Amino acid sequence: MIRENLQNVRDQIREACLRAGRDPETVTLIAVSKTKPVAALREAYEAGVRDFGENKVQELTDKIPQLPPDIRWHMIGHLQRNKVKYIVGRTAMIHSVDSLRLAEEISRESLKKGVETDILIEVNVAEEETKYGVSCEEAPELVRLISVLPGIHIKGLMTIAPYTEDPGKNRPYFDKLVQLSVDIAAKNIDNVNMNVLSMGMSGDYPAAIEAGASCIRVGTGIFGERDYGTESGPVSGSGNQKGMVGNHGSNG
Ligand SMILES: *Cc1c(COP(=O)(O)O)cnc(C)c1O
Repeated sequence: MIRENLQNVRDQIREACLRAGRDPETVTLIAVSKTKPVAALREAYEAGVRDFGENKVQELTDKIPQLPPDIRWHMIGHLQRNKVKYIVGRTAMIHSVDSLRLAEEISRESLKKGVETDILIEVNVAEEETKYGVSCEEAPELVRLISVLPGIHIKGLMTIAPYTEDPGKNRPYFDKLVQLSVDIAAKNIDNVNMNVLSMGMSGDYPAAIEAGASCIRVGTGIFGERDYGTESGPVSGSGNQKGMVGNHGSNG
């Protein structure tokens, strides 16, 4: 099942690249494995996946030692400052940095551990109240403030587009993130590059690729629907929703 799903996703990546005149090698597929058992991740690994995305620190740190060491782990969920210490040095990229204070903590912890941490700035392009991330207007200033911190490197931007049944609807948000990255790159800020654009999920990744995504984050499309169980309800399964408002978007 996972193998076939992956094949299908890879086919769609190729087709979207073809439409956009892009090389499929320039798109990294991140398999979003939140709530899924280690056996499912192993299956995806055996089918060639090396990039996995998780949205909770506890789940991430539980899974890391149970899987091969050549996996690149991506932290894609909202990150609290007091949990930064558990993941610095263990992730390929933290996609969800949206405040100076969080970046300062990542910087501090990176220095302490003697590592360099790559991050993305999370932008709430659609300005949904339920989502984390800075606005497009705030992003350039946040980038500038973070750029001077040691041990931390901004590699690009990330966004979570609104939940929609019609993937084409999100294309303007993806275009807007691309434009923002171009504007920020034009400022030539030291220690900042804008090569990574993390955007597109199961419902809309072809549109994201056509707009220029370099990382897509696909969960349901690979692993099937998530079952959050009865113990804490559906909202708790998402690390990118604020409070208890709604459960679309990062839940797919
Ligand atoms: C869950 C999640 C995804 C994947 O969502 P699907 O719709 O299952 O593909 C992508 N990005 C973030 C930040 C998520 O939390």
